[in-house]
Amino acid sequence: MHLKNPSVHGVRGIMRRARRSLRALSPGSFLLILAAHAAGSQTAASRPTLVVFFTIDQMRPDYFSRFEKQLNGGLARLYHAGAFFENAYQDHAITETAPGHSATLSGRFPRSTGITTNSLGVQDDRTSLLSGATPGASPFRFRGTTLIDWLRVADPRSRALSISRKDRGAILPLGRAHEEVYWFAPDRFTTSTYYHDTIPSWIARFNARQLPQRYADKQWTLLLAEREYPEPDSVPLENGGRNYTFPHRFPSDSSAAARVLAAFPMMDEVTLQAALAGVEALQLGKGPQIDLLAVSLSTTDAVGHAYGPDSREIHDQILRLDRYLGAFLDSLFKLRDSTRVLVALTADHGVQPFPAIHAARVRGAVARYADVDPAYADLLAGVAARGVDTSALQFAEGMLLVDRLAFARAHVDLDSTLRHFAEVVRKVPGVGRVDFVRSLAQADTVKDAVARRWLHMLSPELPVELVVSLEPYAYWAGTTIATHGTPNDEDAHVPVVFWGAAIRAGRYGEFARVVDIAPTIAHALGVPPLERLDGHVLTRALR
Ligand SMILES: [Zn+2]
Repeated sequence: MHLKNPSVHGVRGIMRRARRSLRALSPGSFLLILAAHAAGSQTAASRPTLVVFFTIDQMRPDYFSRFEKQLNGGLARLYHAGAFFENAYQDHAITETAPGHSATLSGRFPRSTGITTNSLGVQDDRTSLLSGATPGASPFRFRGTTLIDWLRVADPRSRALSISRKDRGAILPLGRAHEEVYWFAPDRFTTSTYYHDTIPSWIARFNARQLPQRYADKQWTLLLAEREYPEPDSVPLENGGRNYTFPHRFPSDSSAAARVLAAFPMMDEVTLQAALAGVEALQLGKGPQIDLLAVSLSTTDAVGHAYGPDSREIHDQILRLDRYLGAFLDSLFKLRDSTRVLVALTADHGVQPFPAIHAARVRGAVARYADVDPAYADLLAGVAARGVDTSALQFAEGMLLVDRLAFARAHVDLDSTLRHFAEVVRKVPGVGRVDFVRSLAQADTVKDAVARRWLHMLSPELPVELVVSLEPYAYWAGTTIATHGTPNDEDAHVPVVFWGAAIRAGRYGEFARVVDIAPTIAHALGVPPLERLDGHVLTRALR
């Protein structure tokens, strides 16, 4: 079945309406609104001129506490001098990169951003990449506004740079805004024709430095002495059974080295260096307007998938990430007054351990790989036998999408068909539950996190009839890497941290969501959002 793209309420329309309603107010009332927003935040003389927003792809919050004694860089600074929300979640069901990034600076759940899965994320064949790589990418599926749109309505001089190894990590934190957005494909930073027709000279100069190519023949070794790592190194289920011990070598050919950089910690360092070059070239944060720098660092995801969250490799990756972030912030604060920089950090999702490692660690636990393929094959065969085109069904990421009309046309009763399928799937080992979408709203959404996360996930235009959720710690059958993607806490639990002069440092145990980040930053800046948000201001973290 072909999924049509949900209708797009473009940001331009929302901005036009916002400007119109601002114009409709008398000058006096406009000033009153500005005064009301400035109250409770800082004065213009001391308020931030730069927001730096980090997304760490696949970061579990327990990495901060687990490696605390060995952190002394950027993660340590945020953990000890920032407002750290320990009980924060990507509070939606499909905990993948694209929906996770869409929630960060929009303040809205994927149900509202329209970004449901990675495959319905940023791929856009109507655009092409300036590096010639494929696929093209743009935010055309994204709906509504994000922080940069709010900043630009408050002050049209505000600018944003967003950069990542991944297209979706770079694009989605800025929504549909036509700002400076770059990602790494296949061996250099580039962008798509959605943003630019030619590569800006500062990015071309950065690429010409050939930092990725210089890793040819180098290796990834442990940052600290081997005795500092309690994790076993030789674990054959890591990295598909190949090269699972230190050191990890780069190819000796320089262009080959650049193409595998994404699997190494040094990718994050190169991304941060590009971000710093962008701050200088674009003069971000010089004021008086508020600019935005969004950086999504992807190697924690690559290392976490290959070696798992319990590996020696993830331990070393987090230590290196900490040092890279520390060096970045030190350099940034030489360029810009640190008292006028607001920093926030979160993750697009967490990760579950390899089922075998979880089962070996927890008494009574069994490694589960839920195989619903036979049940789904039976469903398809059954409906085909009754004259329904099987393209009327699609099962993806736990969602069963159904073209109801195709069933009606063939006079096949959809409800009894689905009830039977649900009964069979419920019995599959590793499946936690099967819910009909129409009954989710009757769930106790305070206590029932899985139901709540599906409600936050599914946009009304998606023809999803039922959803299958795995038991905690179970994987889908056929998965060979460590992974995430379920509504379970291990995948949904992420760090949410704020740092800066406007922030009240401390550890906060209250329940918080990633969608609370954007309204909290906006409130600290005295900038009103342009639409209704799902998130709330985390007022306790603000001075
Ligand atoms: Zn991932």
